[in-house]
Amino acid sequence: MRILVVGGGYVGMYTALHLQRKLKPELRRGEVEIVVISPDPYMTYQPFLPEAAAGSISPRHVVVPLRRVLDRCRVIVGEVTAVDHAKRTASFKTLATQEEGTGPLDLTYDEIVLAPGSISRTLPVPGLADYGIGFKTVEEAIGLRNHVIEQMDIASSTRDPAVRDAALTFVFVGGGYAGVEALGELEDMARYAARYYHNVKAEDMKWILVEASGRILPEVGEEMGKYTVRELRRRNIDVRLETRLDSCEDRVAVLSDGARFPTRTVVWTAGVKPNPLLAATDLPLTERGRLKCTAELTVDGAPHAWGAGDAAAVPDVTAEQPGTECAPNAQHAVRQAKVLGDNIAAAVRERPLQEYRHKYVGSVASLGLHKGVAHVYGRKLKGYPAWFMHRVYHLSRVPTVNRKSRVLAEWTLSGLFKREIVSLGSLEHPRAEFELAAGGRRPKES
Ligand SMILES: Cc1cc2nc3c(=O)[nH]c(=O)nc-3n(C[C@H](O)[C@H](O)[C@H](O)COP(=O)(O)OP(=O)(O)OC[C@H]3O[C@@H](n4cnc5c(N)ncnc54)[C@H](O)[C@@H]3O)c2cc1C
Repeated sequence: MRILVVGGGYVGMYTALHLQRKLKPELRRGEVEIVVISPDPYMTYQPFLPEAAAGSISPRHVVVPLRRVLDRCRVIVGEVTAVDHAKRTASFKTLATQEEGTGPLDLTYDEIVLAPGSISRTLPVPGLADYGIGFKTVEEAIGLRNHVIEQMDIASSTRDPAVRDAALTFVFVGGGYAGVEALGELEDMARYAARYYHNVKAEDMKWILVEASGRILPEVGEEMGKYTVRELRRRNIDVRLETRLDSCEDRVAVLSDGARFPTRTVVWTAGVKPNPLLAATDLPLTERGRLKCTAELTVDGAPHAWGAGDAAAVPDVTAEQPGTECAPNAQHAVRQAKVLGDNIAAAVRERPLQEYRHKYVGSVASLGLHKGVAHVYGRKLKGYPAWFMHRVYHLSRVPTVNRKSRVLAEWTLSGLFKREIVSLGSLEHPRAEFELAAGGRRPKES
């Protein structure tokens, strides 16, 4: 029997991990094979991305190597492009197929877990595709960190006030935890870095948070959301509620309230939508494009297909209102993965399945070093206690003892020494120096 897991994120990695433990005897006897297909050979612990952007955790430690953790699974680094469940076949491409020009390969399976997660939900805002950046991957987080420090370097060395002003203006769109945490951590890092510049002060920078609704951070409840707005404004961050980004053409952010900000930084964190791969399957989807799943995490009406996480519409059986779906967050993803692993193992052994049942317990968010906000199990925390809770919670959640130890060591060291303020933006163009030496063209400036 082949169990195919599509995606190596929260759900994909944890499901495969549970399965390789649960089905140990079957794996040993060669009766079962678990195959994981994911575009990256690692799982990204997304809640640590803002801290990686701030330089509190190094990029390698916010990811978990799939091959090492899933040592009894077959890991294929590739991208599933379509699933024909009627024929129990998935098509996928890899770097090798692209290099060889052979087109996608087919893999048959007996059971399939669809966990490709979500992608940034963008709108047709003019200029966004050219100048915007998301905040979902480790590459984006580190790219943004390098970019922010590079803008401070530009501002420090230019004589043109317009260039300086644009370089020091940072626009974030979307007030969910990804946007608020990314902005909170990066502003805090840039404020700290400014003390090492002779001509750039923290007050010279403009940090703007644009949110279409009337509140931010809905995950921590209304009261703590209002506190977060006050706290950010106290830090001189321009929080604009009920405002949209209308355009960012020619590197000018134009907002729906008429404000215009020349800027070189537009970070788009205005929500997520299900991975487009789902539309390339013959499985049932909801109106919003998520996989229609049952509380047992099977795909509704499609035997041998399973789903969980951001990609799946799983009924929230604890909700008072019928028809409520579990929200796309890590809290559900990691718990669903455990039930999913148990249920697939139960199905293999022809045993009954269990329901996924979890009542949302609230959320914690970091707003920079020693600053945070939390609303968990009915308890509301602000400032240092919330930040401390954020760290303890995520340290307990980040997978593997190896990663926990490395993250803890980094936090301890950064408490003893000063923060890193270096930008390694040139890592993104490793051949630039050599190309110049060899007489080639300098890569175009971004
Ligand atoms: C910056 C940030 C901070 C966050 N903070 C929190 C937080 O504090 N608390 C919280 O509860 N949640 C948080 N979240 C949300 C949480 O990370 C997600 O809900 C969770 O990762 C969803 O898990 P998933 O497995 O469904 O998707 P993911 O973890 O995104 O995994 C999807 C996987 O599928 C792979 N994939 C994509 N397309 C394909 C394809 N075609 N073929 C094969 N594989 C594919 C991807 O590469 C990835 O490995 C945060 C998210 C972000 C971006």
